[in-house]
This record gives sequence, structure tokens and C-alpha cells, in this order.
Amino acid sequence: MRVTGFPLFTSREIPADAEIISHQLMLRAGLIARLGAGLYTWLPLGLRVLRNVERVVREEMDRIGSLEVLMPAVQPAELWQESGRWEQYGPELLRLKDRHAREFCFGPTHEEVITDLVRREIHSYRQLPVTYYQIQTKFRDEIRPRFGVMRAREFLMKDAYSFHLDQASLEATYRAMHAAYSRIFQRLNLDFRAVRADTGAIGGSVSEEFHVLADSGEDAIAVCRHCNYAANTELAQSRPAPPRQEPQRAAQEQPTPDIRTVAEQAQMLGLTPDRIVKSIVVLADGKPAVLFLAGDDELNLTKARSALDAGEVRLAEPEEAQAATGVPRGFIGPKGLPEELTVRVDERAAAIPNFSSGSNRQDWHWIDLNWGRDAALPERADLRTVRSGEGCPSCAGSLQIKRGIEVGHVFQLGAKYSESMDARVLNEHGDQVPMIMGCYGIGVSRVVAAAIEQNHDERGIIWPTPLAPFQVAIVSINAHRSEAVHNEAERLHEALGAAGLEPLWDDREARPGVKFADMELIGIPHRLVISDRGLSAGTVEYRGRSEPTSRHLPCERVVEFLR
Ligand code: ATP
Ligand code: MG
Ligand code: MG
Ligand code: MG
Repeated sequence: MRVTGFPLFTSREIPADAEIISHQLMLRAGLIARLGAGLYTWLPLGLRVLRNVERVVREEMDRIGSLEVLMPAVQPAELWQESGRWEQYGPELLRLKDRHAREFCFGPTHEEVITDLVRREIHSYRQLPVTYYQIQTKFRDEIRPRFGVMRAREFLMKDAYSFHLDQASLEATYRAMHAAYSRIFQRLNLDFRAVRADTGAIGGSVSEEFHVLADSGEDAIAVCRHCNYAANTELAQSRPAPPRQEPQRAAQEQPTPDIRTVAEQAQMLGLTPDRIVKSIVVLADGKPAVLFLAGDDELNLTKARSALDAGEVRLAEPEEAQAATGVPRGFIGPKGLPEELTVRVDERAAAIPNFSSGSNRQDWHWIDLNWGRDAALPERADLRTVRSGEGCPSCAGSLQIKRGIEVGHVFQLGAKYSESMDARVLNEHGDQVPMIMGCYGIGVSRVVAAAIEQNHDERGIIWPTPLAPFQVAIVSINAHRSEAVHNEAERLHEALGAAGLEPLWDDREARPGVKFADMELIGIPHRLVISDRGLSAGTVEYRGRSEPTSRHLPCERVVEFLR
């Protein structure tokens, strides 16, 4: 490809509203263009990267026998009413009406649609197990779309769904899917961790998230320094901390703040320490507010204590709390809480003297709502957060808290959808039984941003080879004046293309500095510079994107060198 025929939309300016580096670089390199909040166009350069992710995902899905389908983005409301999610899902679900006033939604996920397909098409255990996947556009009306395609409203997801006669079959597919995910992220050269995650308000037994490690990640995960244990911090349990040999050095190694245990949070509030207190409901001037005591938010804990002591607020009684939030006592995650409610309680908390509203909502995985002092001990009393240096539950080594970007999620769903939507098969005894289901997602467009978070320098993106939009940049110096340079660039462009090395020839009449800066910004892994001076010695200059120096290659050896 020639740059004169493949215009670049690069820019030197750092976009004002882009907070994280991947968002800045995706805009500056001209991979995406913003249309509106959480809505992005993939430009030709960016689309090549997105397609590369898709290709790897598709190959690994096909390899484990998953069957590709393409489902409609727009879904009839009736299906969601059947599963019960039309009511439950909250405002993240974009609801639409057609000209006949029939209700639809733009799919944020496809459990209902696939369950409907399978209940129509599959009737016997002999047709099971089966796994379908698609790579398709989703819409979620995220309360705070940000970080570009990282948390967009419209985004590309690979979603897969498997159907089984029994749990053992589900587990086999789940393992195959887990392995496929690991291969996908390995092939994309990403530094990732599979972490145990809670199954949330959805229920089910097992769920794991795949996180790309990056400081800008919205999730906190506990990773063992010694074994391969890794879990969502809200799920992780821990043993007593092992004795530390070098406390000072260990402290320096941990830039992330400690995460307070739930018991400690309870203690700070003077509540029974064996109770789980992730949030409390208080009344200020008779007005209720939920205070979220998430993770490491010590400031809010201290404020809560002093406000309680000063009588500015008092703990709500269970009935008051329930009336205030509309949420019954028990385990509720913020994802299960209607968004209006979290906004409403935030506003109320902000109205109470001494309180800031919880702006770190992205960090919450679980809110255990404890309705005042008399709350019964929740079933999952072992659920507690962990902090750096605490003992790993698996090997008693010490845990480290890291930040992660959730790029994938695998899930054993059980019979939730097949029961509510009546998706049954005949088993070998002739009985109608609900199918057992699994679901598996990858944020295909988010992967592109996550890869940039891990692979960049001050000059721009450094693509891992499997993601790169082009493999080799050819920069010709003064080709419009020098026939020799032009001819050699043209020859190499053709030869590299024929060898499948995807060259991008910067054939513009621009200054060399401009071309170098652009090729570095857009992150092409290999760069060849063709100049009269090099050619007079029969060489071209080669430099790897992350290498500090260049070297000279004989012209005739270039293709072989890069292959
Ligand atoms: P998050 O916790 O980041 O909101 P999620 O748990 O709601 O994600 P899932 O329902 O598990 O998302 O969807 C599967 C995958 O889709 C996620 O692992 C993530 O990679 C991707 N994804 C989810 N929401 C978005 C979004 N708003 N923008 C881009 N990718 C997303
Ligand atoms: Mg979400
Ligand atoms: Mg999540
Ligand atoms: Mg998820």
C-alpha cells in the first residue's frame, strides 16, 4: 500500500478529552474518529488492526469447533420479557419502538436470541453439545462512556454460547473455551491473566475474567507472586499474611494502595467485625443515602465514622434501607443495581455534609448491602477483599494487587435461560430436560485499546506483529528527485508485498522527519529507509520500532531478512 493511496489521519496534538494513552494514540494515529459519546468510526488504518484481532479470535473459535453465526443486533422485547431481563437490565439497555409501536432493544448481549434459536432447532440430546459464536456489534448505554473504544457504547464483541445435556459436558467446553482464550491473548502478545470472578447477580457456579494488565485498568485483581492464583479482589480470600523478610523493600515494590479487608472496614465503623459491610445505608435529615465503602476508600470510611459520631447521619434500619433503595437485602452487585439508583444514591451521598459522592464506582464489583446493625450474616461470609502482601489462599505466598482491563469473560450459566425460556431437549430416557448453558465473551474492539496500553512509547504505538496494520514501513527519501530511490522503493514494495509482509510505502513528498514521526506514531514494527546515500553503498537502512539503533542491509537481502 502507498500512503498517497492510503491517506493517514495522524495528528501531533494530544486530544484534550482523551484521558488514557491508548485513547490519545488511537485518535492521534488516525485509527478511530469520534462521532458522539461512546460512538467511534474505525478508519481504514484502525480497521486493519481490528480485523487482525477478529482473525485470531475466529481462528481459535473455529479450532475448538465453535460454529459462526450472525444474529440481529435488534432484538424483540418479548424475548427479554420471557427471560425477565426486560425489567432487570436497567438503562444500559437501549430500547426502541418500530413504526407499529412494537418494542425492541439493541442487543447488549445475545443470550435470549441464541436460546430462542436453539429451542427451535435443537430437540434431542443427540444434537448436543453445540457451541455458536458471532463477532458482532453490541450497544450498551454505558453511564460513563470513556477511554475511547475501551468503554464505548457501541462496540464489537465476540460472543459465544454453548448448550449441553449435563454439567460435565458444559465443563469440558468451558475448559476448551478457556484454553482458546489463553491462546488468543498469547497470540496477540498480550500480558494477561485469567482471574476468578464472581458470577454476580446472574448466578451460576463458575466464572473467570481475562484481564490485560495495565495501570490504567478499571479493575483491581489479586495476583499471587508465587503460584498462578489470580482473582478479582472482591472475590479473593486470603490466609494470614506470611512474615515479610524485607518489609521496606516490599513496600516500595507495591505502588498500588492496599485494599482494606471488609472486616477492617466494619471495625472502623464500629460495626460487628465479622459482618460483611461493603456499604451501609444511612439517614441524614431523614433522607436516605447509601455509602459505598469500596476497596481502599479510607477517606470515606473516616468520614463515615465521624459523621456517625457527630450525629450528622444515623444507620438506617433494614426496612428504611430497603424502602430507600428498593433493593431487597442480600448480595447485589453494582451491575445488578439499576443505574438510576446508583446515580440517585450518589447524589444523596453528595448532599450529606462531609461526604464525597463515590466517583470510583468503576472499582466496585460487589456491594454487600448490610441493612444496618441487625442484618443477618450473608451466606457468603467468606467473601472479603484482600490487600497487597496478604497470603495466597492457594499456596500462602504473598498476594499483589494489580490493575487489569477486562478483555474476556467465560461463564458457566447453568439452566437460567433455558428454564425461563423453556429450552428443553429429550434426554436418553425420553424426558424433557432444560439445556445447560455456558457463555463466553471477548471485547474485540477493547482488545485493540488494551494492546496499546501495553505497547507504546513517547513516540507512539508499538504494535505486536499479529496486530500491526502493516508489517513494514518503507520510507523513501527524495524519491521524487531520485529515480534510483524511487525504483528501489517500488521494487521492495512489490517484493515485500509478494512475500506477504504487508508493506506501507510512504511515497509522499514530505520531509523525512514527518514521515519517520508518522510511521513511529502508527507503530509499524519494521522500517526501511531508502536514500541515495544508502543505495550508493548498495544498502537500505533498517530499524525495528522498539530498537534504539539502525543497521544497514544489502538491498538484495531485505526480503529474506524480514521474512
Ligand atoms: P465491564 O466490566 O468492563 O463493564 P462487562 O463485564 O459488563 O464489562 P461482559 O458482559 O462480560 O462485559 O462482556 C464481554 C466483554 O465485552 C467484556 O469482557 C469486555 O471485554 C467487553 N465489553 C463490555 N463492555 C464494553 C464496552 N462498553 N466497551 C467495549 N468493550 C466492552
Ligand atoms: Mg459492563
Ligand atoms: Mg465486568
Ligand atoms: Mg464481564
